[in-house]
Amino acid sequence: MWPVSQVFSGKHLAYLMPRNAQPPSRAENLITLHDQIVACERCPRLIAHCREVAATKRRAYIDWEYWGKPVPSFGDPAARLLVLGLAPGAHGANRTGRMFTGDRSGDFLYRSLFRAGFASQSESTHLGDGLALKDAWITASGHCAPPDNKPTPAELRACRPFLERELELFADARVVVALGKIAFDTYLGVLKARGEIASMSGFKFGHAALYAELRPMLLASYHPSQQNTSTGKLTQQMLDEIFLRAAELIRSGRDRAVPPRSSRRKSQ
Ligand code: SF4
Repeated sequence: MWPVSQVFSGKHLAYLMPRNAQPPSRAENLITLHDQIVACERCPRLIAHCREVAATKRRAYIDWEYWGKPVPSFGDPAARLLVLGLAPGAHGANRTGRMFTGDRSGDFLYRSLFRAGFASQSESTHLGDGLALKDAWITASGHCAPPDNKPTPAELRACRPFLERELELFADARVVVALGKIAFDTYLGVLKARGEIASMSGFKFGHAALYAELRPMLLASYHPSQQNTSTGKLTQQMLDEIFLRAAELIRSGRDRAVPPRSSRRKSQ
């Protein structure tokens, strides 16, 4: 069963699925964070780009009213899986207002999330399409669509506090699936800034690379960009296996043997 409560914030709908065990404060904090992201204007270049794309549109979506602003994170406030992407697609999430919604990357991602039991359906086309996530939360290294899908290092740094806040709120998350090297480095950058790892140099990005000593664990995947999926660098089966692995790690509780944060500091 997929009970869905809808949290209204302006024109945007965030689909949250509180479970009985979920403290209400986290859901409230996530709504606050949602509103802060949507209202953010820290990166003038990106804000201008999102608005310009929304005004000019793509011919196929000429009848759409584009979202055209920062895209908030989305999912289950009780999630133990965090999915960290790069940034919204110009005519995908920047159009629809929901992460990985309305483009081929999202088609790929949600099929795999559905097969692993993290999504209620395999399609994600628009707000209000009925999609809900279970035990998963989708966020991004940058919340605004960048020109050529390339945020600058300064823009990624500007956006990182939102991820840091999410990691605080999801303190009991078990696994971060990083989609692509930028997401991988973004997550490690947060851990380094928090003093939880001494250096990023010992962590090598590769598809299905797992760093189980981290909390949350880090599981890397190639990004489901069209460039990767159309060339066969990332197949649907490869992405299915990532999320099946994440589900297995979560359900097996493999990280329970990991010592608490304070005793791991600077030791890796
Ligand atoms: S990328 Fe992040 S920090 Fe920059 S304007 Fe968008 S939401 Fe704000």
